[in-house]
Amino acid sequence: MRSSADIREAFLSFFESKGHTRVASSSLIPANDPTLLFTNAGMNQFKDCFLGLDKRAYTRAVSSQKCVRAGGKHNDLENVGYTARHHTFFEMLGNFSFGDYFKHDAIAYAWEFLTSPAWLNIPSDKLWVTVYATDDEAFQLWQDVAGVPAERIIRIGDNKGAPYASDNFWAMGDTGPCGPCTEIFYDHGADIWGGLPGSAEEDGDRYIEIWNNVFMQFNRTADGVLHPLPAPSVDTGMGLERISAVMQHVHSNYEIDLFQHLLQAAADAIGCSNEQQASLKVVADHARSCSFLVADGVVPSNEGRGYVLRRIIRRACRHGNKLGATQPFFYKMVAALAQVMGAAYPELVERQTFIEKVLKQEEEQFARTLEQGLKILEQDLVNLQGTVISGDVVFKLYDTYGFPMDLTADIARERNLSIDEAGFNACMDAQRERSQKAGKFNFDYNSLLKVDVDTVFTGYDSTHSEGKVVAMFIGDEAVNHVNEGQ
Ligand code: ATP
Ligand code: MG
Ligand code: MG
Ligand code: MG
Repeated sequence: MRSSADIREAFLSFFESKGHTRVASSSLIPANDPTLLFTNAGMNQFKDCFLGLDKRAYTRAVSSQKCVRAGGKHNDLENVGYTARHHTFFEMLGNFSFGDYFKHDAIAYAWEFLTSPAWLNIPSDKLWVTVYATDDEAFQLWQDVAGVPAERIIRIGDNKGAPYASDNFWAMGDTGPCGPCTEIFYDHGADIWGGLPGSAEEDGDRYIEIWNNVFMQFNRTADGVLHPLPAPSVDTGMGLERISAVMQHVHSNYEIDLFQHLLQAAADAIGCSNEQQASLKVVADHARSCSFLVADGVVPSNEGRGYVLRRIIRRACRHGNKLGATQPFFYKMVAALAQVMGAAYPELVERQTFIEKVLKQEEEQFARTLEQGLKILEQDLVNLQGTVISGDVVFKLYDTYGFPMDLTADIARERNLSIDEAGFNACMDAQRERSQKAGKFNFDYNSLLKVDVDTVFTGYDSTHSEGKVVAMFIGDEAVNHVNEGQ
């Protein structure tokens, strides 16, 4: 079996052998890019190279990039625990050309790495590819360079109702570098539900997208206009966990070596059995995103990046509670994670104690209201008419018990219920108005992502009243007054 660490190294050395410079992963907090919540792809740190604003000593690069997709344009938070292939945190393997090679070499390299006996040696009849609907050149190259038969190449058009909105037109965000792409899928077998890309059953998990090769050609500005880049470039991304699943002959990412270790650690920390329970997967997944985010300097707060982190931690705590956790458990995942990923990401080891402290503090704080909030919700559900939890209830859980809206939505989904989001937002607006009139704190409680504001951790100081959080201070500034004035 090839370990994920081994596959990461194979990818990096393959592209080094093709003249690429190995570049370290950048932080999960994008440098100087207010358009981006978290680093969501390998190309982020090279954005200015594509735009021609930054010239480096190299025109070819390869990296394994830490990514978080839990908000913003690419958000997979709701998928975790439900699909075999999505994480909030994952590693993206990528090769890049800044005005150097283009479609021909990108396709040739990708195919060689995947199918050559010297590298991954994946049987080519398990692979399918897609191209952007009008990209005849890529369609032809797959046949000529890789020998993929035409019937295994699928054209994907603008299926999302707007020009260049297709799955095969990749964009990092609403603005920035973008272009048509070609994606490689692996067929996990007929016993798994799911159809080919572009089919009605494409949301299934039989054909899993493993690698996206983007032909960077444009810069999209805020007015929606596509401006040609100074030079056609290449940006690719392959999920390390997905390719590991292929190489380890398992279907789900959660069955790979690394996740087996984390699932066991989660079961041990919670004190439950290690069966394939969805909640354990959520805990294992969230432990990675939360630990890496704290390692990169994000701390829980009520706005921006810190609020996304808080939401993920609280979600993990709720899943632990569901599995019977009675003590803080989440912070214990940090040691297990440092054990399996510390060699590749030393910051996990260096900052382990700090990460544990931050997670434990958030966990303890939320534990005070979690049980009570769940009880209140159960009572409300007894009287529920229909399948929608009212905005008032969602708001009460949020305001009094610190339940982020998506946490209540997560509970609702498990029971085939949904929440009244508009009703919740109306309650939020009303509260905002009240507090403005009263001239009190004027924070935006909703999950407003003010990504231009960085949350700086300078220590916690919390005061509590009747077991409910009244205020938490980061530095000198009160950023949380859950239950204040109630
Ligand atoms: P999907 O359609 O499966 O959601 P995507 O098209 O959104 O994937 P890309 O933006 O093309 O993904 O990212 C490049 C690669 O990164 C994907 O081909 C996949 O291997 C990997 N990847 C993307 N999102 C995730 C995720 N949430 N968890 C793990 N790997 C991911
Ligand atoms: Mg996606
Ligand atoms: Mg996709
Ligand atoms: Mg893709």
